[in-house]
Amino acid sequence: MAERTPEVNTLPTPRGSLPRLGVRPAPAVAGWRAMPAEAGTGGVASGAITCVLAPEQTEGPYYLPGEKMRRNITEGRPGTPLVLRLGVVDASTCAPIHGAAVDIWHCDATGVYSGVAPSRAASTFMRGIQRTGAGGIATFQTVYPGWYPGRTVHIHVKVHLGGNVVHTGQLYFPDNVTDVAYRKAPYSGRPGRDTTNAVDAVFRNGGRSSLLRIRRSAAGYTGSITMGVHRSV
Ligand code: FE
Repeated sequence: MAERTPEVNTLPTPRGSLPRLGVRPAPAVAGWRAMPAEAGTGGVASGAITCVLAPEQTEGPYYLPGEKMRRNITEGRPGTPLVLRLGVVDASTCAPIHGAAVDIWHCDATGVYSGVAPSRAASTFMRGIQRTGAGGIATFQTVYPGWYPGRTVHIHVKVHLGGNVVHTGQLYFPDNVTDVAYRKAPYSGRPGRDTTNAVDAVFRNGGRSSLLRIRRSAAGYTGSITMGVHRSV
């Protein structure tokens, strides 16, 4: 299902293709905080643990390949700071995947995507790629996304392994958290958010398992989630 397209964002012009990204096998990681004691193929086989396959959801009209490898994707644009800790695990073994390329993009605090309108064709804000570390986690520094008409608040994500896209999804925020976040500027200057998770046409197809766990931090928020993927597509 295609995303509804707001007037402010027009179709993108691809800037190039994502370079092939090598993937190293994940080492055994003792400190993986989401891992139960039975982690590994034995635990999976015995049924002691299960990993949830992250739901595939539409990439929408604003994906651009070839984004920058960078942790801070804000380019100084305003908004409440948001740290994202995005974990990638093998859905078959629950083992963290080291070296996956996590590719995210979202609208800025005013609901606008970079790179997709003639006036913003060369802009790249709120887009970037990070590799997962030994613990299977990619970390980004961004701002709480704004909203655009017809969609609930979301962040788009792709996971690349060895040059293949193994997951395309969207990440969501609890509506009560967004309600509080949007009381502050610059979000408060743009009231009238028209779509919540409950009525969003994309969220309804598995979005509940793509809700970020949100914690307040000194500066803003931290959002965490673990995405289970299959290594081959
Ligand atoms: Fe979107």
